[in-house]
Amino acid sequence: MMVASRKIRLVMELRRAGIADTDVLSAIERIPREAFTPESFRHQAYENMAIPIGQGQTLSQPQVVALMTQALRASRRTKVLEVGTGSGYQAAVLSRLCRRVYTIERFKELLQVAEARFTELRLHNITTRHGDGWKGWREQAPFVRIMVTAGAGGRPGALVDQLAEGGLMVLPVGRTSRDQALLRLTRTADGLVEEHLSDVRFVPLVEGVPDDAVGLTSGFIQRSEGLA
Ligand code: SAH
Repeated sequence: MMVASRKIRLVMELRRAGIADTDVLSAIERIPREAFTPESFRHQAYENMAIPIGQGQTLSQPQVVALMTQALRASRRTKVLEVGTGSGYQAAVLSRLCRRVYTIERFKELLQVAEARFTELRLHNITTRHGDGWKGWREQAPFVRIMVTAGAGGRPGALVDQLAEGGLMVLPVGRTSRDQALLRLTRTADGLVEEHLSDVRFVPLVEGVPDDAVGLTSGFIQRSEGLA
């Protein structure tokens, strides 16, 4: 099957799954997911499945990307923070919907590959940083939208602090892949309002940055099968 027809099939599947926001669907149509997968998974780029991207991490299932993007309610005027750049695919989708995307990744190798993809695809409104996203991006705060693409054990305090009043944060909470929930937090003048969006399975959010001296292949392999 041709890429175009695979894409149409995927978008139809997303519609059936309840993704109704046409801006989100067209952003997904415009970003070539095959450019964000390892070579060996390219033929499955438009299947509704998660794809391993190295370092034990995964590119989320398109349905989860679409659901999270829709839940974020971004607009052309918004500045978004994404925690967990990974392959760069989610940031690329967001870049078509918002003014600017700030994205943080703790694995330098993954970030460098993602950066090369952004340049290649001329996605010039994405700013990257190698570091611990659990701490947020203080110099650029506050953000009206924050998306976390790795499962935290609880509410990330620094990120909540960097969320503007009236702002939204979409994040999976729950450390084990069996009891994770996708939440949307809204920061109001009176505090946080929490909505449960769905059950999900994400790789864990890990505090700190891998120690280069230890070597990336030795210490940070995580299970990736079956994760979102
Ligand atoms: N949004 C990504 C999904 C990547 S999976 C995509 O579209 O491909 C989650 C990513 O979060 C992994 O790359 C992982 O290394 C990263 N991550 C986990 N904890 C982190 C932290 N504390 N700071 C920054 N990135 C983190």
